[in-house]
Amino acid sequence: MPLSFTPVIGLEIHVQLATVSKLFCSCSTNYIGEKPNTNVCPVCLGLPGTLPVLNGRAVEFAAKTALALNCRVQNRTRFHRKNYFYPDLPKAYQISQYDLPLAVDGYVELTEADGSKRRIGIQRLHLEEDTGKLVHIASDGRLSGALYSLVDYNRAGIPLMEIVSAPDITSPAQAKEYVARLRQLVRYLGVSDGDMESGSLRVDANVSVKVSDGRWGKKSEIKNMNSLRAIERALEYEIERQSGMLARGEEVEQETRHWDDAAGVTRSSRSKEEAHDYRYFPEPDLLPLVLEEGFLEETAEAMPELPWEVFRRFEEVYGIEPEDAALLSERRDVAAYFEACVMAGASPDKAANWIKTELFRVMNERKCSADDFPVRPEVLTELLRKVEQGELSATAAKDVFGLMADRSLRLDEAIEAAGVFVGKVSGGTLKDIIDTVLRENAEVVEDIKSGRDKKGKKVKFLQGLVMRHTKGQADPQEVSELLEESLKN
Ligand SMILES: [Zn+2]
Repeated sequence: MPLSFTPVIGLEIHVQLATVSKLFCSCSTNYIGEKPNTNVCPVCLGLPGTLPVLNGRAVEFAAKTALALNCRVQNRTRFHRKNYFYPDLPKAYQISQYDLPLAVDGYVELTEADGSKRRIGIQRLHLEEDTGKLVHIASDGRLSGALYSLVDYNRAGIPLMEIVSAPDITSPAQAKEYVARLRQLVRYLGVSDGDMESGSLRVDANVSVKVSDGRWGKKSEIKNMNSLRAIERALEYEIERQSGMLARGEEVEQETRHWDDAAGVTRSSRSKEEAHDYRYFPEPDLLPLVLEEGFLEETAEAMPELPWEVFRRFEEVYGIEPEDAALLSERRDVAAYFEACVMAGASPDKAANWIKTELFRVMNERKCSADDFPVRPEVLTELLRKVEQGELSATAAKDVFGLMADRSLRLDEAIEAAGVFVGKVSGGTLKDIIDTVLRENAEVVEDIKSGRDKKGKKVKFLQGLVMRHTKGQADPQEVSELLEESLKN
C-alpha cells in the first residue's frame, strides 16, 4: 500500500496593537518613517532605575480579541522576563507572558470549500513587547555579507499580541484562511491595521508531517512569510519537502527555516531561538495583572458586530448569496456602506451588485476606503432609484457614478455633465440623432441601400451607433423603426 502523508500545522501570529503609546512607556508607536532611535526613552531602552507601567489600552485590545476568539480570559495573569542576548533587545530580556497568559482555550471557525465548518483551536493569547530592528549594511549597500549592523530601537516596546493556534490545521489553504480570518477580525475590532507587508501582522508556522506507517517527522518552524499568498506557497513547499524526505526514509530535522519568496523555497537558517534556554522569571517591576470587576462584561458589551456575524445577517436578513455576503462583509467600511444604502431604500440585491462592481473598481483605482468614498450611500441609492424608474439606463448610470466619484459632482451635475437625458430619447430628438449618424456613415448607408448588406450586419452596426449616441436612453424598438424609415428615403 502506498504511503500517505498528513501535514500538521500550528501557527503563531504576532499582531501589533494600534495603541498610541508603547506597552510600558509613553513613547509613540508611530515609528514608520521616523528617524532611528528618536521614539525611545529610558524605560523602553531598559536603562537602570526605570520602571515599566502597563498600557491599559493594550490590555483592553487583547481582551477584546480574546473574547471574539471564544477564549477564556484569565482574571489574574502576570508578566515574565524572557532572557536572551541579542542586539535588537536593549534590556537583554523581553517582557512577555509565560505560564499565565492573558487568555487561553479559544477557537476560530473556518468555512471549507465545500461549505462545511471547521474549528481551529487557539491555545493562548498573550501580550508582549516588540524588539528593536537590526539593519545590516554591506560595503555594496546590500544585506548579504554585511560588514556592520545598525540598530534602531524605535520599535522596541511596541505592544504585540501573540496568538498561538493548536496544531489543528491540515492544509496550506486552511492556514491561509485562518490568517485571513484573524486579520479580518483585528481590523473589524479596530485593534490593529493587520497589515502584513509593514509587519503589523507576522506569521510563523510550525510544520510537521505524519506518515501512514506511524512515523512522524520532526517539526520545522517557518518564518518570513509576508503575505497570505506567501504563507500558502511556503507551506506547500515545506510539506512537499518533508514528505519527500520521509518517503525516502530520511529523518526530518527540527530547525528554523526562512521562506525565500523570490526563489519559492524555504531555507535552513541559524536563529537566535535555537538551542536557547530563555530562563523565564517573573518580572519583578510589574505587579500581577488583575482585571477589575466588570471589565470583561464591559468589554464584551462594547464589542462591535463580528465579521462572521455580519456575514450571517446579510445572508439571513437581506437574502444575499453567500459569495456576495462574504465580499460585502469582508471589510467593515464596505459592510457599513452597503447597509446605509439599504437603509436609504435601495434593494439589497441592486446595492450589492453595484458595490461589488462599481464601488470596488473605483476604490481600487483611488486606494480609498468606503468611509471616505466620494459618492455617499444615499446618493448611490438615489441613482439606483432613477435606473429603476427608467429615467437612466444602467450604462448611463455608470457614467454618472464615475463622474461623481472622479470629479466629486452632485448627482444632478453629474447627470448634466454626462450629457445623458433624464427620461427617454425618442421622437424628434431621436430622429435628429439618427440623421447625424447616417450623415457620418454615408458609405455604410450606401452599401445598405444598394443591397450589399445581405445579413443585416450593417444595419445592426448603425443601430449600435445610435444607441451609443443616446447613451442607452432610447427604446431599441423605436430606434429600429425610425432607422428603417430613414434608410428607405
Ligand atoms: Zn519609551
